[in-house]
Amino acid sequence: MNREAGIPTAVETVVVGAGIIGLTTALHLARAGREVLVIDKAEPWREGSAVNAGTCALQNKATNLLPAYRQGLVEWRRLAGELDEDIGFVNKGGIRVAQSAEDVAALRAGAADQAAQGVQLDWLDGNALRDRAPWLAPTVTAATFCAEDSFASPLMTGQALIRGLRAAGGGIAVAGLTGQRTQGGGYRLSTAAGNIDCRNVVLATGAWTDRAAAMFGIGISVRLNVNTLSVTERIGQFMDNLVVTHIAGKFTLKQFPNGSCILGGGFQGRGDKDSGRKELDLDQLQENIRFQCSVVPQLRDATLLRSWVGFTAIAHDQKPTLGPMPGRPGLFFAFTTNAGFSMGPYAGRMVADAVLGRAMPEIARDWTPGRFAA
Ligand SMILES: Cc1cc2nc3c(=O)[nH]c(=O)nc-3n(C[C@H](O)[C@H](O)[C@H](O)COP(=O)(O)OP(=O)(O)OC[C@H]3O[C@@H](n4cnc5c(N)ncnc54)[C@H](O)[C@@H]3O)c2cc1C
Repeated sequence: MNREAGIPTAVETVVVGAGIIGLTTALHLARAGREVLVIDKAEPWREGSAVNAGTCALQNKATNLLPAYRQGLVEWRRLAGELDEDIGFVNKGGIRVAQSAEDVAALRAGAADQAAQGVQLDWLDGNALRDRAPWLAPTVTAATFCAEDSFASPLMTGQALIRGLRAAGGGIAVAGLTGQRTQGGGYRLSTAAGNIDCRNVVLATGAWTDRAAAMFGIGISVRLNVNTLSVTERIGQFMDNLVVTHIAGKFTLKQFPNGSCILGGGFQGRGDKDSGRKELDLDQLQENIRFQCSVVPQLRDATLLRSWVGFTAIAHDQKPTLGPMPGRPGLFFAFTTNAGFSMGPYAGRMVADAVLGRAMPEIARDWTPGRFAA
């Protein structure tokens, strides 16, 4: 042990990053009886996974990634059943709404694409729509309902995962990765809390994956998104715990069981991931709130308690980056794409399996970090 910092000096697998992907990867490894330590540059569960909207819907996802998001939902249900604590997972379905004639045409086309992928959707308009969601504005003329759409509570999930990991024998420590060198068939990681020797290292570093990859001499280019989110005071339940999304994009809305409404969708703030600076863009925030109120007018009567921004990133080719790095034994990437909370537990499962020596599934063939080898 490095006694001053309290971190081990050697461990079989180090997972860098204590977000949804790092923690689920580590949980699977610990449950498989492997020695695993998660390190984070700051308090665990502080970044994207902690500050996101919790939407785990299918309807608002890119069609080509639907099978992975669907598997994400399978893993979310498993987590909800297997962890000892409530993670606030709610599966009451979701509706995707359309307001203009163009929206309706786009909704029909999108629904056809999703149906071709096996997603079951109900088309709602006229009285059927009003009966299903009387709280929608009259300007909403059509919607699709998907029974699989769900959400989870980021706050509850983080605490449950951290305690679940510890209960399974995994470790977790504050120790930012600053560099590495190969050492005895594995890696010697330099961290702010001391060196750690390990056989495997998993980079689950979210928006900082380009920075972490660079420490291993690998060039991954990512685009940073600084997403905005707001929460209202607790108000009476009126949305039946549905997840609401909009065919025009930039819209997610749900009411948590405690009555708070979470208004998201990806309106952009400002920030810098190296300094950690995060700022709301008040024009974007106002546009975000107006859009939400135009869809669900009842929100106008709710007091907004807090708005914030958080970092998330997407590789420039818009694909996840998951699994072993070819030619670099013991190095694994665990980086998804937009909506990484939804897919996160599936990514964690795949990467843990890869560390355990199992093959990555066919679906992940295009997502190999090997595409950045040059
Ligand atoms: C406001 C907002 C709303 C969102 N809403 C949704 C949503 O509703 N649904 C959805 O599916 N997705 C949503 N997302 C995206 C989602 O949050 C992310 O895709 C997902 O949480 C990424 O998880 P992760 O584990 O990869 O990264 P993170 O949760 O960001 O974790 C990465 C961790 O790595 C650590 N780290 C980085 N570099 C180092 C280093 N050198 N050493 C040690 N530790 C390091 C960081 O400190 C961090 O804790 C949203 C994002 C934001 C910001």
